[in-house]
Amino acid sequence: MKSDLEIAQEKKLEKIVNIAEKYGISEDDLELYGQYKAKLSPSVFEKRKDKKDGKLVLVTAINPTPMGEGKTTTSVGLSDALNRLGKNTVVALREPSLGPCFGVKGGAAGGGYAQVVPMEDLNLHFTGDFHAITAANNLLAALLDNHIKQGNSLDIDMKRIQWKRCLDMNDRCLRNVIVGLGGPGDGVVREDHFIITVASEIMAILCLSSGLEDLKERLSKIIVAYNRKGEPVRAKDLGAVGSMAVLLKDAIKPNIVQTLEGNMAIVHGGPFANIAHGCNSLMATKYALKIGDIAVTEAGFGADLGAEKFLDIKCQLGNLHPDCTVIVATVRALKYNGGVAKTDLVEENIAALEKGIVNLEKHIENVQKFGLPLVVAINRFPTDSEKELQWIADFCEKKGVGFALSEVYAKGGAGGEALAKAVLAKLEKPANFHPIQDLNLSLKEKVEKIAKEIYGAKDVQFAAKASKELKNLEDLGFGHYPVCMAKTQYSLSDDPTLLGRPEGFTITVREVYVSAGAGFVVCLTGDVMTMPGLPKVPAAEKIDVVDGKTVGLF
Ligand code: ADP
Ligand code: MG
Repeated sequence: MKSDLEIAQEKKLEKIVNIAEKYGISEDDLELYGQYKAKLSPSVFEKRKDKKDGKLVLVTAINPTPMGEGKTTTSVGLSDALNRLGKNTVVALREPSLGPCFGVKGGAAGGGYAQVVPMEDLNLHFTGDFHAITAANNLLAALLDNHIKQGNSLDIDMKRIQWKRCLDMNDRCLRNVIVGLGGPGDGVVREDHFIITVASEIMAILCLSSGLEDLKERLSKIIVAYNRKGEPVRAKDLGAVGSMAVLLKDAIKPNIVQTLEGNMAIVHGGPFANIAHGCNSLMATKYALKIGDIAVTEAGFGADLGAEKFLDIKCQLGNLHPDCTVIVATVRALKYNGGVAKTDLVEENIAALEKGIVNLEKHIENVQKFGLPLVVAINRFPTDSEKELQWIADFCEKKGVGFALSEVYAKGGAGGEALAKAVLAKLEKPANFHPIQDLNLSLKEKVEKIAKEIYGAKDVQFAAKASKELKNLEDLGFGHYPVCMAKTQYSLSDDPTLLGRPEGFTITVREVYVSAGAGFVVCLTGDVMTMPGLPKVPAAEKIDVVDGKTVGLF
């Protein structure tokens, strides 16, 4: 089979104005970025504000192998399949981060015949949103350091600076740095840190804002440091809000591109799901619900991370009511969860499936705890045996949950019709969505609830530093915020080697901080990093541009 990039490059693209027109959006309501990319003007939403929202379908997954299990691929294929069945559907996805493109994972525009295009643009600079976020983040850092250099009239405690610089690159050397070296004119020396752009609070803010005014309000609340009395110093105290908003005024508008089958995809915002809240922007989802009768959206990594945060943070803060969930599983990830080594995943192995299925079982139970109907979608790989596929189908039947084999990677939308029909059947009945994180609980209680109910932990241990900070944050009035857990994606626990459905484990919260503008409290567990590194042989070594054409990008 051809590579994802070859399939994407062979496709003769439709002009984006024609795609928009199919959905009743005229060129006047678009801001064009060349012929195949556009931003939606606020007028698109304005004109539809009294229209009833479409149905919302969330695509999530079991705990993945390091290769990814196909949520984006399934989301795109499902959306194409629904359109083939005559349902006006829009898929809403995250924008890929540059960092991982050059590391291991590959792109995030789907795969095979279920992709969004133009995929190179999408995976690289796209419409510049992430660069704008990086610039806004680093403007705030520059203003902060300048304020200190110019006399520090806000009395910022140099040991309690919260704000970090960012870059959209996997660059472990920047995790801990010293800034301000040099002479008296070169600023004040201090320890600083870089995070990847997708972990920046600005990314989270952009993704949770309802519009430009809300964006400004949220930016103003960012806590950059504490003063020597222990009071928060905010972005507004540094006079940073207007200029950050100017840098973000275009980035906040949702982008549209097309699927390989010529349907609309809204691709906007992209916080990672392990270290941030993991879903595309709220505006992208809200636009998709107005433009489509069905909106399909993806939340990153497994349901313990992406779906939990989508449902508890985004849906709760953004007043969204999902109607159905698709849990993507693969034969290889189930076997991986059953203890099979990465190199042996292609061999038929029913015994390993039997062992690994407990991971899917836990995610099924979790989605049901949120009151949502679900369909298990097996994303078919060429190496899956009929016997293995049948075994999973039988398991789902015994559990009484929806099941469909998805062949969208090999066949595009046609390979997703069974899944689309299974989803449509679920959409006939109303869902009974309710979040798990009750905002009235204390911050510690929220962490404990997620750890016990969603992860299956025995208990939670808070490092002394984390406990102290949680208390401080409650004193400062942030007790009603939801918590955003930062955890490994490979396990339901905070230990990436505990596969399947671990039990009796303790979750350790080692550090916490508030994203006061985004509206949540981040709790770091295990050794999750907010600035990733590159592997021994980075994907970057194979990427090139030859005769004007990108090669080696996935
Ligand atoms: P996720 O969104 O869950 O991280 P993706 O949809 O991005 O996963 O897919 C991860 C990778 O796996 C992509 O490179 C994609 O091309 C590949 N892939 C997905 N589904 C299949 C499949 N059915 N067969 C072969 N490769 C696949
Ligand atoms: Mg994805």
